[in-house]
Amino acid sequence: MNKDIIKKSDKAITATYTRPSIVIEKGQGCTLWDTEGRAYTDFLAGIAVCNLGHAHPEIAKALCNQAHTLFHVSNLYYTIPQTELASWLTEHSFADRVFFCNSGAEANEAAIKIARRYFYEKGEFHRYRIVTAEKSFHGRTMATLSATGQDKIKKGFSPILEGFDYVPFNNIEALKNAMEPSVCAVMLEPVQGEGGVILPDPEYLETVRRMCDETGTLLIFDEIQTGIGRTGKLFAYEHFNIEPDIMTLAKALGNGLPIGAMLTREYIAQAFTPGAHASTFGGTPVITAAALKTLEVLTRENIIDYCRETGVYFKEKLMELKSRHESVVDVRGIGLLIGMELNMEGAQIVLECMKKGFLINCIQGNILRFAPPLIIKKEDIDALINCLDEIL
Ligand SMILES: *Cc1c(COP(=O)(O)O)cnc(C)c1O
Repeated sequence: MNKDIIKKSDKAITATYTRPSIVIEKGQGCTLWDTEGRAYTDFLAGIAVCNLGHAHPEIAKALCNQAHTLFHVSNLYYTIPQTELASWLTEHSFADRVFFCNSGAEANEAAIKIARRYFYEKGEFHRYRIVTAEKSFHGRTMATLSATGQDKIKKGFSPILEGFDYVPFNNIEALKNAMEPSVCAVMLEPVQGEGGVILPDPEYLETVRRMCDETGTLLIFDEIQTGIGRTGKLFAYEHFNIEPDIMTLAKALGNGLPIGAMLTREYIAQAFTPGAHASTFGGTPVITAAALKTLEVLTRENIIDYCRETGVYFKEKLMELKSRHESVVDVRGIGLLIGMELNMEGAQIVLECMKKGFLINCIQGNILRFAPPLIIKKEDIDALINCLDEIL
């Protein structure tokens, strides 16, 4: 069965991913099972998505109940679940309004569009450029790959969109030089995810905020990977005593269901007038009902506090590995978004871990990334550490 599925899949699906030879069939909490019945502890959570673990019974129930009531009617009508989800998000963030869509890339598209439209509505037609960071990742659509500060993402897709400038992350001087009068927004991940789990230097984001204020430039935070508790706060910006003007969410918002959101303040939201932007599926009842339940469980069970504590523990254990193994050159992260940089390729280690029953991930060739469900147990962390210790 395993071999058949892999053969069939490799024949029918574009080869945009290289995958190991396992077929995942089932999940529960932090455990996944393949078709051969082997169990894996999941230290990736579908790339920082399933924060409450797999097959969460309450979310499954919310999804089923809504599916038996109403899947979808389009955004031409009011619906209850999307109203409740938008209210929850605005009550728990800096934002006043939400635009719903279906993925991270789409959320960033909405952010880029509203930033430009905002200055257009003000009659400042010359302000359209967006400054982003080198090593950033903002998505795979034409606009978001153009915003992304990594050449490999753009290869073969020229012409990329005009209007994006890139500066090194954590470099205030470079940003200062990039702040031309034509710039409408600065777009950053508060902690860079795909680029290698890169944390902002102390004061960096505060200084960026101040520079945006001084020039009337909008600050967009891409919190698609860092949002929804991943860093030990509901949103990563809360660590830095500042607020963005626009924020994008996706990944963990639906605990595994496809949803994206662009959140902003009232005066900016005004730029999205009827017809200015749209999405057929965005905020559809069946998905927003599940997302609302995700957020309710996350806060009710204090999972974000637990994530903060567990993250500290996990990082300490990885630091111990670093002190024992020369091949580990750095351990960094925040909450349960942690990177371990090696002085060698990481792909083989990912495979070895899988054989021993742990799913981890490698980014940028040599950085192991850990982003488990936020409910991961210390025993599971200990077990992974032992496994890594042996392999290294
Ligand atoms: C995953 C990710 C995206 C893209 O999200 P998709 O849902 O894959 O389109 C954008 N920005 C960041 C920071 C991400 O981690």
